[in-house]
Amino acid sequence: ATPAATMVGTSIGAKNGVLFKGGDVLERAKDVDTVVFDKTGTLTEGEMELTDVVPLDGRSTDGGTETAADGGTQAIGGDPEPATDEIDEETVLRAAASAESGSEHPLAQAIVEGAQERGIDLADPEGFENVPGQGVRATVDGEEVLVGNRTLLREADIDPEPAVETLERLEGEGKTAMLVARVPAGTSDGRLLGVVADADTVKESAKEAVAALQDRDVTTRMITGDNERTAEAVAEAVGIDPDNVRAGVLPEDKSDAIDDIQQDGRRAMMVGDGVNDAPALATAYVGTAIGSGTDVAIEAADVTLMRDDPLDVVKAIRISDGTLRKIK
Ligand code: ADP
Ligand code: MG
Repeated sequence: ATPAATMVGTSIGAKNGVLFKGGDVLERAKDVDTVVFDKTGTLTEGEMELTDVVPLDGRSTDGGTETAADGGTQAIGGDPEPATDEIDEETVLRAAASAESGSEHPLAQAIVEGAQERGIDLADPEGFENVPGQGVRATVDGEEVLVGNRTLLREADIDPEPAVETLERLEGEGKTAMLVARVPAGTSDGRLLGVVADADTVKESAKEAVAALQDRDVTTRMITGDNERTAEAVAEAVGIDPDNVRAGVLPEDKSDAIDDIQQDGRRAMMVGDGVNDAPALATAYVGTAIGSGTDVAIEAADVTLMRDDPLDVVKAIRISDGTLRKIK
């Protein structure tokens, strides 16, 4: 394109809240044949709300035998005595929210706010550790608390199995369900306390954006660190083929996932908002940071969408191919 055409494109972009980092990006965007969306904060609002707190019974989940000392009484022909350490909702939520109060993750903030709204007093966590793509660990009232996905618990040798039915039910509703476990001080006897779930809302224009891209023969995909069931529920809601969803992708693997997609010469635009997405934005043929995305994402991106609107992805491509000439 001539310098004049580049200037016009750049200025139409700016007036539409689509910022191109230079003339070559403006040229490239029209050749994109695949758009890969991050899920949370990109297709969804990223404003989570705590929706469920499900206590599990307080039995040891280390596969060890229950002794009379842990309160595991063998019932013969009658109701079993309730375990002495029966867990209630407040116990689960207090542990989870106290541990999460050290995290800025939207999942964490929803749990903390949910606890506060229910009038639960939180403890100050100590030794807080964020495990990217998995969850958090922190010491709460002298006991280690873990909140996160199956991998986080397995790595701590806690079997998520007793919670799996609950997890799958909540995930099938498109919610992000997280396991809550506690390891009493001085032991390695991790116990599953329960499950908490956050729900997010799909952005209003996400479905329309996906449809508009598909109309242009652009393949739409989704990539997320979230689990498969939740991811597919969201994909279905916005019209992305479940076969085009890659779930459970660790932050450091998002960029490799883009490489895979681009392997056979495809030109992918990655659209994301988070720190997690920065390497993938840099790897993609065109990296696009959306909305109030983090500075790291914006820095790694070729295009920044000032609004939080997935339809602006379509606009970016149309400005590049010259079909968006009018300034709205
Ligand atoms: P996304 O790619 O959707 O932005 P992340 O990579 O941040 O998601 O997280 C992936 C998964 O790791 C989450 O779905 C959740 O199961 C778990 N996780 C991450 N951070 C936390 C946290 N602070 N508390 C609980 N679970 C978390
Ligand atoms: Mg995200």
